[in-house]
Amino acid sequence: MVTEYGNYVGGEWTDSVSGETFEVRNPAESSEIVSRFQDSTVSDAESAIDTAVAAQNDWATVPGPERGSVLNQASQALEDRKAEATETLVREEGKAWSEAAGEVQRAIDIFAYYAQKAFDLGGVVKSSSGRDKELSTRQEPLGTVTLITPWNYPIAIPAWKLAPALAAGNTVVAKPASVAPNSTRILFECLDEAGLPDGVANYVTGSGSVLGDPLTTHEDIDGVSFTGSTSVGTSVAQAAAEGLKRVQCEMGGKNPTIVMPSADIEEAVEAVGIGAFGTTGQSCTAASRAIVHEQVYDEFIEAIAEYAESLDVGPGLDDPDVGPHVSKGELESTLDYIDVGKSEGATLEAGGEQLTGETYDNGYYVRPTVFSDVDNDMRIAQEEIFGPVLSVIRAGDFEEALALANDTDYGLSASIITQDLTEANEFLDRIEAGVAKVNEKTTGLELHVPFGGYKQSSTNTYREQGDAGLDFFTATKTVYRNY
Ligand code: NAD
Repeated sequence: MVTEYGNYVGGEWTDSVSGETFEVRNPAESSEIVSRFQDSTVSDAESAIDTAVAAQNDWATVPGPERGSVLNQASQALEDRKAEATETLVREEGKAWSEAAGEVQRAIDIFAYYAQKAFDLGGVVKSSSGRDKELSTRQEPLGTVTLITPWNYPIAIPAWKLAPALAAGNTVVAKPASVAPNSTRILFECLDEAGLPDGVANYVTGSGSVLGDPLTTHEDIDGVSFTGSTSVGTSVAQAAAEGLKRVQCEMGGKNPTIVMPSADIEEAVEAVGIGAFGTTGQSCTAASRAIVHEQVYDEFIEAIAEYAESLDVGPGLDDPDVGPHVSKGELESTLDYIDVGKSEGATLEAGGEQLTGETYDNGYYVRPTVFSDVDNDMRIAQEEIFGPVLSVIRAGDFEEALALANDTDYGLSASIITQDLTEANEFLDRIEAGVAKVNEKTTGLELHVPFGGYKQSSTNTYREQGDAGLDFFTATKTVYRNY
């Protein structure tokens, strides 16, 4: 029997006033309906916002360490349900079991991390230029915020928005992506179990085009934190800015790894290969361009093609190297881009086709794909593909490689593989990306340092994660005290 889940509003699991639900299917086996969710309306979103607004003052007056204690207990509750949450994530999003388990662990750790941060919410005291006066600042909660999240990290991304928002004393309404709302639901169950007061965190499912308007423009919302595509994020940023709301959008990427002649080719192939094909290439930080020095170009192409062909593709529950795409739409988009690459004149070195046969026929699988002879002006070098497709571009020297790496509208993550210290430092100084790595893959983030993009990968307003993750969710009040 297929379980139907409600919205979580005011501490209750409730049905949408629409009386309608939508279904979520397993991308590894599309005949399997995993669960059903509320197809919510504008009025459902407005009720959730009203509930969050009503709860805000009380939550803001709860001492920070007490708020942190709730997060700690939610972290423990999720730890206790780790296997179940991992399976839920695999069944709705498709990623390989060990990747999903790592993502669930990330959510557990993020809750624990911001539980500690809730002890440290303070301000600064400064000496005043007048006598018998004191100057200080306080960090206060921003207020009521909406959190709009994508499907590709359906438990980690909601966690890295929810935890700092709650630690800082905000109330929230969260809307997950409709292809993968189930993992996010578990976070709310854990918060409920941890004793979060009713109304502080609310969860509403449904179409982004229906719920987007109230969630970004409602007069009582103080901020909108969005992660998703650059096209949707741009309209979210514009709508929120119209109402003078604080807004943070983290968006797409077209991330390069530069491979220089001093690189160990085996290490370079592993960094690029995991970056490009891990999570089925469905990471905002995925390495979708390898920019390779001509001295090692042929050797690299041969080795990366062999690597791609060697990967084991299959259902996430079997813990393969590469799982299915999340949906038919994403599968078709990747296959379209493979056709675009061929028609643009790139050379197909590996993959390039949908997988068929017993294991694959009801899922959304593409063989990991490598194109060589890619020109950086081609669409496959400029547009985010969001599937396991790597474009390899030849560069004559370091300066050309760096120029090619920066020749993109995006600027999320970038890396270089080199043993040359000068090249590494030049790269760090001049790469236009919010995350810059030396001898590392472009994917993989630590939770206690800031994360965000440059250029069209981000509104560049606030960073997420680490200490910086609290900035978006707090407002600074400057206090003048004359004694
Ligand atoms: P998406 O933009 O299609 O959807 C993101 C969220 O926005 C979903 O919850 C969706 O329902 C909602 N939405 C849709 N229309 C809306 C509207 N008009 N108003 C308000 N909300 C609306 O993105 P996606 O397909 O879910 O996720 C993939 C994208 O996310 C990729 O571009 C990827 O690079 C990006 N991403 C970025 C980061 C990052 O931190 N930079 C992290 C993960 C994913």
